[in-house]
Amino acid sequence: MKKHNYSAGPCILPQEVFEKSAQAILNFNDSGLSLLEISHRSKDFVAVMEEARALVLELLDLKDKGYQAIFLGGGASLEFLMVPYNLMKENGKAAYLNTGTWASGAIKEAKFFGTTTVVASSEEENFNHIPKGYTIPADADYFHCTSNNTIFGTQMKEFPETDIPVVCDMSSDIFSRKIDFSKFDIIYAGAQKNMGPAGTTLVVIKEEILGKTGRTIPSMLDYAKHIKADSMYNTPPVFPVYASLLTLQWLKKIGGIEAIEKINDAKAALLYNEIDRNPLFRGTAAVEDRSNMNATFLLNDESHAAKFDEMCKAAGINGLPGHRSVGGYRASMYNALPLESVQVLADVMKELETIV
Ligand SMILES: *Cc1c(COP(=O)(O)O)cnc(C)c1O
Repeated sequence: MKKHNYSAGPCILPQEVFEKSAQAILNFNDSGLSLLEISHRSKDFVAVMEEARALVLELLDLKDKGYQAIFLGGGASLEFLMVPYNLMKENGKAAYLNTGTWASGAIKEAKFFGTTTVVASSEEENFNHIPKGYTIPADADYFHCTSNNTIFGTQMKEFPETDIPVVCDMSSDIFSRKIDFSKFDIIYAGAQKNMGPAGTTLVVIKEEILGKTGRTIPSMLDYAKHIKADSMYNTPPVFPVYASLLTLQWLKKIGGIEAIEKINDAKAALLYNEIDRNPLFRGTAAVEDRSNMNATFLLNDESHAAKFDEMCKAAGINGLPGHRSVGGYRASMYNALPLESVQVLADVMKELETIV
């Protein structure tokens, strides 16, 4: 039976990525060897890494603009720590926008390195909206924000203007919509939300912002060292990088970010229209801040949950329960989720209305 996978991450990837990456495990590039048994320094794998790094910059329209893309281990969570290590001066200060669990995690790690100023937070309303109208201190070493709040289903539609470096955790919406990516000095994203399997984190860095802290940075946590080594300071996560490359190639083939954004807009419109129309359901995020990637919603009457869950299961819908801190439902509509899958969910919601 066809599955409609709404999992929040790890998540759906294009079917051809599963097929090609499975093939590469058996026989990589017709070499008679598995991708998993060749040297990461071999010509074939170096080519994978170089193409992946170049394609990231091409798709984000950051080519020849002073940026470098690297693939690291440790997850997006390690970047919570690497960012302040590489950007915060001794006794320095960093400004954070607190829009959810992941932003809070980033703030917690930055506190090891200096003073953190939270410019605004929506924590008191359980992160149901994106704060606006805040001021970013001009003397902070950088400003950090989270473009899409995977758990709460909110998404920044605009980014603040500031003269200090801007760092953005784009784990759950990178490559999903057109943004002027050159407004950011560091972008990071765990691969498993919209790009590839778990196990690697993409970090895109404007090179000129590095080397200004006066700190001695341990090698593995030093962005400059990873860049200098062409993202191969140590053995990189070869399989996640390869599968990410396949996803990036797929995205380029279908028309890049501009093309996928249209599809993502259509998917989000379809589902939010049903959430708003259907008297059985209500959305949990402020309408103007709703995420196109993760739609969070509730049943108005919890007693319908068993029936709804059973109908979802029968329709092949997977991964719909909301995060444990929010409850209800969360439909993650990452790039590879087809519009037809969203139609299936909207149809189940409509059907529930007719039978309860
Ligand atoms: C999932 C997620 C993270 C954590 O990613 P890991 O790779 O598990 O460390 C961080 N930020 C955001 C926005 C996420 O969605």
